[in-house]
Amino acid sequence: MENYIIYTFIFLLGLAIGSFLNVVIYRLPKGEEIVIKPSHCMKCGERIKPYDLLPVISYIILRGKCRYCGEKFSIQYLLVELLTAISLVGIYFAFGWTSPADTIAMMVLVSMFIAIFVIDVYHYIIPNEIIVFGLVSGVIFSILKGVNFNNLSLFNWDVLKDSGLGLVVGISVFFLIVILGEWFMKAEAMGMGDVKLMGVVGLFLGFKLTVLSMFLAFIIGSIISIFLLVTKIKGRRDQIPFGPFIVLGSMVAAIWGTQILSWYFSLGRI
Ligand SMILES: [Zn+2]
Repeated sequence: MENYIIYTFIFLLGLAIGSFLNVVIYRLPKGEEIVIKPSHCMKCGERIKPYDLLPVISYIILRGKCRYCGEKFSIQYLLVELLTAISLVGIYFAFGWTSPADTIAMMVLVSMFIAIFVIDVYHYIIPNEIIVFGLVSGVIFSILKGVNFNNLSLFNWDVLKDSGLGLVVGISVFFLIVILGEWFMKAEAMGMGDVKLMGVVGLFLGFKLTVLSMFLAFIIGSIISIFLLVTKIKGRRDQIPFGPFIVLGSMVAAIWGTQILSWYFSLGRI
């Protein structure tokens, strides 16, 4: 019984965070204020009342339309809210509450990932605001993970060192790739946004999983890019943003990374 209450709470929390991510996704690329300005209809400009801002429920009651002018709101709002809620529930299910700092860090990382994914797909940018938030929260979480709450004098420096190493490796490897790409291919497959994002991933996941994330990002990126080109969804000259591949690769690494690495290293011993 108790479990259902926790899961329901996390689901509702996820809907609320998803609702906030929608605001981030809509306003950050336009350079608008996130917190100060109240929500309004993009067509008629009418301010949306708080009771019409309930995640999912309001969307269903109003059938995805503006109460005042009938303008249809994108289904993306609903999907982002549901995806966030389901992801947070999934993280709690997978990680439990044995190490709260780890679980909450994962929830923060996934929420950031959802916003970055959608923004990069549409605008080919990864906003610096999200990067700064990621760097600051990443440092806070790696400090929290190192704290031994039973004995505060026993701080585990290894966690902090591992995060720092992840940050340095993530940034330098991707920075090198960007530089080499521009020198040799005159191509801009990746930008500085991807370099910075990889640094954030490094802070959250540490050295080993960061290396795996980069590897997976390139594999997933190649497969999806080929698919997009073959199906002609994207043409040869179209830009395909790399941020979403970093997000997907890092997600796989964060969830199954430890298993993947132990499987990989067990192959070498045969
Ligand atoms: Zn309207």
